[in-house]
Amino acid sequence: TIGMVAIDSQGKMAAGTSTNGAIHKIPGRVGDSPVPGAGAYVDGAVGGAAATGDGDVMMRFLPSFFAVEAMRSGAEPAEACRSALARIVARHPEFVGAMVALTKDGKHGAACHGIDSFPYSVAGGGEGVRVINVSCE
Ligand code: ASP
Repeated sequence: TIGMVAIDSQGKMAAGTSTNGAIHKIPGRVGDSPVPGAGAYVDGAVGGAAATGDGDVMMRFLPSFFAVEAMRSGAEPAEACRSALARIVARHPEFVGAMVALTKDGKHGAACHGIDSFPYSVAGGGEGVRVINVSCE
């Protein structure tokens, strides 16, 4: 999945995903990516998040919604992603996936599980594109 969270010049936010879905998927499978709260979620008053990983697991936990709600409660973006993934991993220790999150003020972070590290890109603010690599839990 490619997941994106964006803020425009007027501070409006949006999130989106693009995915080829799961390997050997059943024809007609929808997966998590187009489901608000699962693949991605934004509340312009707080921030947004996007997720990648086993969508058949993620769509039962709505990790993107979870991460936005965690930021609403004061969590930093990376912490919000870690909390959302921890909720999944508590039930599915073998889960492999990652999340990114962005606050309405432009703070960003990511977290991942089941792999060594996860790279995400940040663009804007006149700084070009930066690739940030986070270590997974
Ligand atoms: N989340 C996607 C799906 O299960 C897969 C992915 O993240 O690559 O459809």
